[in-house]
Amino acid sequence: MAEVAEESTHVPSSKQRIAVFLSAMRHFAKELKDKKLPLDYIALDDPDNAGTLSAELSKAIKRHQPQALIMTAPGDWRVLQAIKTTAASHNLALDIREDRHFFSTVREFAAHAKGRKQLRLEYWYRELRTKTGILMKDGKPIGDAWNFDQENRDAFGKEGPPPIPAPTRFQPDAISKAVIDLVNHRFTDHPGEVSGTVSDTLMGWPVTRKEALEVLHHFIKDRLSFFGRYQDAMWTKEPWLFHSHLSVALNLKLLSAREVVEAAENAYRAGKAPLASVEGFIRQILGWREYVRGIYWLQMPEYLERNALNAQAPLPDFFWTGETEMACLRDAITQTLRTGYAHHIQRLMVTGLYALLAGIHPKEVHAWYLSVYVDAVEWVELPNTLGMSQFADGGLMASKPYAASGKYIDRMSNYCRQCRFNPSQSTGEHACPFTTLYWDFLMRHEAQLARNPRMVMQIRNLTRLDSKARAEIRKAASKLTSP
Ligand SMILES: Cc1cc2nc3c(=O)[nH]c(=O)nc-3n(C[C@H](O)[C@H](O)[C@H](O)COP(=O)(O)OP(=O)(O)OC[C@H]3O[C@@H](n4cnc5c(N)ncnc54)[C@H](O)[C@@H]3O)c2cc1C
Ligand code: SF4
Repeated sequence: MAEVAEESTHVPSSKQRIAVFLSAMRHFAKELKDKKLPLDYIALDDPDNAGTLSAELSKAIKRHQPQALIMTAPGDWRVLQAIKTTAASHNLALDIREDRHFFSTVREFAAHAKGRKQLRLEYWYRELRTKTGILMKDGKPIGDAWNFDQENRDAFGKEGPPPIPAPTRFQPDAISKAVIDLVNHRFTDHPGEVSGTVSDTLMGWPVTRKEALEVLHHFIKDRLSFFGRYQDAMWTKEPWLFHSHLSVALNLKLLSAREVVEAAENAYRAGKAPLASVEGFIRQILGWREYVRGIYWLQMPEYLERNALNAQAPLPDFFWTGETEMACLRDAITQTLRTGYAHHIQRLMVTGLYALLAGIHPKEVHAWYLSVYVDAVEWVELPNTLGMSQFADGGLMASKPYAASGKYIDRMSNYCRQCRFNPSQSTGEHACPFTTLYWDFLMRHEAQLARNPRMVMQIRNLTRLDSKARAEIRKAASKLTSP
């Protein structure tokens, strides 16, 4: 095992993200050593550390003189190439094994995709449900429906969320404390924070399998019942809500997707959680998670270069500070930099939506998401960012751009109540930047979007704007996006 600086600097990884990964590695290394299993471990602060995976692997090959290399399929295309090239340069056979933490293999997804004009989550999800028998009875979906989306879109309303159970967070032990010191010393300029109280910062995250199982247990017991109903809702200064906070543990392979899904299904079968919530949760893991992984490996490396909407603007500085008058962005970004976490709708319909509407270059958006979230690994982050949230793949991942005005944010949160802007206005002193940019986005891409059957309503509304209204919106939008 090697801690190499390259993995934290190829994008400027946040302090939390670096520390979570390093701490989990060191805890795992300790488990192996305690079991007296052979392990060659290169620490980041080792003075001879060469700083890259290829260089450390080359040194290890010289030390151990292996007959062949055996590896589990990695999560990054870049890492796979580095290891393949190093193995080849030493004339060593490389045996790549399946990663058993997933339900499906990359090859199975490729077979599913072959010959299809369009890829859609729904078909892949149904195929996996049928294959695994999860939430199935006599070959049919339990509840006679594949999804319960209509029941899973509630906002909190005026009164706000019901009591939110405290998140399961952990005090840093000696290993984590040493990592925190190392990160604070070595990556001073990187975004995010790595010290502070446990409820708020990195080291509340699970870094051992035991801790990960605890997070899973508490989610199933305390939050799962509300998960579905409120999975799209947002609320100021409430980062955790009814989400599972399991992505970190899943992506670090402290938990397998199968055991998480089984725990949710068992809760339904024991009458402890409603079907709509359980299906909504299982769809995220058995559906989306497996789907984005398939897309990533099917499309890389060309996928990184996609920019179907020709978005060219730079990422605004406030993405790195949270300093903006827009209450929704301020809350989502500040929380992200403090905790390394934001839930899906904050990522998709606040930060992602702003970047889409403002026409920010997808590579800059990608680098930001990969840097700041503790669960960020390229196989899952890239399709979500470039495909789902920025529509930069032209519709491979999602059937239409997730474009919306400030009114969507107003409906799903209380952000607008504390904001100086008005989500209903597209021009004027109090115009909501999301609403201005939404109409401008539709105008900029009118010809392309008019060909998309799922955009009919939005384009029809656009055609109702006369040329004067269009010109005013254009002017207001260019003020927002000019440097
Ligand atoms: C722009 C953007 C970037 C994202 N980057 C990442 C990333 O780097 N790493 C990451 O794990 N997820 C990413 N996601 C997906 C999703 O937002 C996170 O998995 C989720 O917010 C993690 O919080 P949670 O564990 O509380 O999830 P929950 O809401 O509790 O969902 C349960 C689990 O389902 C899985 N899941 C949910 N949605 C998705 C999805 N769209 N794709 C894949 N898995 C999903 C996750 O493993 C998650 O832990 C991204 C989404 C967007 C829109
Ligand atoms: S008014 Fe606009 S900028 Fe302000 S919180 Fe609402 S959506 Fe965000």
